[in-house]
Amino acid sequence: MSDVAEGIGLGGTQALDERYLMRTYKRAPVDFVRGEGPLLWDAEGKRYLDFLTGISVCSVGHCHPDVIKAVREQTQRLMHVSNLFYTEPMAQLAEQLSESSLGGRVFFANSGTEANECAIKIARKHAHGRGVANPEIVSFESDFHGRSYGALAATPALAANEALGPMLPGFRAVPRSDAAALREAVGENTAAVLIEPIQGESGVFPITDEALLAAREACDEVGALLIFDEIQTGMGRTGSLWAYEQTPVRPDVLTSAKGLGGGFPIGACVTGPVAADVLEPGDHGSTFAAGPVATAAALAVLAIVDDPVLLRHVRELGAYLCEGLDGLEGVRETRGRGLMVGVGLEEGVDAAAVTADLLERGLVVNAPRPDTLRLLPPLVIDSDHVDLAVGLISESLLGFAPR
Ligand SMILES: *Cc1c(COP(=O)(O)O)cnc(C)c1O
Repeated sequence: MSDVAEGIGLGGTQALDERYLMRTYKRAPVDFVRGEGPLLWDAEGKRYLDFLTGISVCSVGHCHPDVIKAVREQTQRLMHVSNLFYTEPMAQLAEQLSESSLGGRVFFANSGTEANECAIKIARKHAHGRGVANPEIVSFESDFHGRSYGALAATPALAANEALGPMLPGFRAVPRSDAAALREAVGENTAAVLIEPIQGESGVFPITDEALLAAREACDEVGALLIFDEIQTGMGRTGSLWAYEQTPVRPDVLTSAKGLGGGFPIGACVTGPVAADVLEPGDHGSTFAAGPVATAAALAVLAIVDDPVLLRHVRELGAYLCEGLDGLEGVRETRGRGLMVGVGLEEGVDAAAVTADLLERGLVVNAPRPDTLRLLPPLVIDSDHVDLAVGLISESLLGFAPR
């Protein structure tokens, strides 16, 4: 296969994008046309090492043969019938998600945001069941839960955009990992504490065990639900199938998406026993969700990542990656767990500029904040890929580090 596509090239694509796409994204000047494992190729045939994986979506690498096989077989047999009927991959995926985590029931969605919408509905209805008239959901200030109005209300930094108001009421936020403030905020009206166990979009900040324990205890005291948004942290990213497994707490509900479908859009809201039967017929639904192709893809992904050998590999390689990065010129600290890594840069080093330079050098990462690079490589890379990435980051930072 030629690496050079016969298409309209970067210039042509940019011209169409400029004219016809809404201006919601600032894109990097590259037009990717092919991917394989940890590698990507652009329209000019240039090769890249992908340490972002479409924001932790292609966690098993690009175009994994098992995912392709599952999708191809399913698309040839049946693509869609709606949730008015039974389909086998949906039921099997629900079983595997439940049995690998909280043991209750699953609602499927098409994205992370939608998985969180389901969790928010569960939380509010569960609270009404306790006699709470005005249920409230508590999150951390720099949490990210999505961009629809429910998920947005639980994403304080974006909900502050008054041009999009009014926002959904019934949400409040406390400073990240502030156990005392969290305890203070949780009361009789609290429906749920909805948090990311490791904040991803705001720059890779693990929540302290102390704050997680405070959240668990505070929820238990009032009968509120503890909801973990594992959309970015789940599916093996941190070196356990779910991030909560490496914390001292177990949530009542978790949400998954991103890596779940290996590139196919699918989300899931997974409950434990307390929240399993809250939603009833008529409470929620989705036309596309749990379709046979997306669920078949997710089953193939789970077969790869729900494997103790792979998960140990993720923990070991994550430690190796951080070892390589810590102490580099320009690196202040590394944060995260497994292969979810935030690289805090020295003052004066602009992460966006480093990200653009790394793209030139053939390494794909992103800058979730001005002082941080985020690395979300495929879980199936080996130490050679890590060495290559660390080498490129080291070289790049030499050009940026303040002297
Ligand atoms: C990406 C993300 C979401 C939103 O998922 P979409 O699929 O973009 O809707 C929600 N929560 C977290 C933690 C995420 O990382």
